Amino acid sequence: MNRRLATDTDDGLLLIISGPSGVGKTTITRGVERGIAGSVFSVSATTRPKTSADVEGVDYHFIDDAEFDRMIEEGAFLEWADVFGKRYGTPRAWVEEQLSRGRLVILEIDVEGAKQVKSKLPESFAMFVLPPSEEELLHRLRARKREPEEQIQKRFAEATREIAEARRCGVYDAFIINDDLDRAINEAIALVNERRSGASSDP
Ligand code: 5GP
Repeated sequence: MNRRLATDTDDGLLLIISGPSGVGKTTITRGVERGIAGSVFSVSATTRPKTSADVEGVDYHFIDDAEFDRMIEEGAFLEWADVFGKRYGTPRAWVEEQLSRGRLVILEIDVEGAKQVKSKLPESFAMFVLPPSEEELLHRLRARKREPEEQIQKRFAEATREIAEARRCGVYDAFIINDDLDRAINEAIALVNERRSGASSDP
């Protein structure tokens, strides 16, 4: 099952972007996608319900548990993980195809997923987006007005745990502090460009 992807012979690069909810990682991810020519965003499959803010096929492919099970069985996921009791997975075939075309493929996935991808593809580049402080993260979670306070506290506890795990696990190549969105996006783009030019001059 540990099939190699065609990343050694071309300029394809897998970019992982993780971070706790409320940190602004989706905006950063989309900013990197817009800022780097030839980059593509990997649309994950998920069993979580679609909200009014989601667009099918753009944000996620919304599928049911039976289909998710079937995809696991078929080895259709590069990685998958359980997040907040729902499952999320990265479609393997699509990612492979884009990498073989030399694209920068962006995965917005959690720490568990990032660990799986890094163990299969150590040459991928992983970034973790941090809030300026824990207080600021709590403030941002509340400001979204998406959930009741109890849910916000749960997300906050989970975020703190995820940040600690990201620092501990050794999977991330870079940590970006989202103190200012434009600055954070520019830093992420600069890191990717640096990595790409460094990688292409390797022997
Ligand atoms: P949300 O439901 O708020 O869009 O996403 C919840 C969490 O799931 C986020 O941390 C997001 O990064 C993560 N996530 C989204 N897609 C995937 C995926 O394909 N694999 C993994 N492992 N995590 C994902």
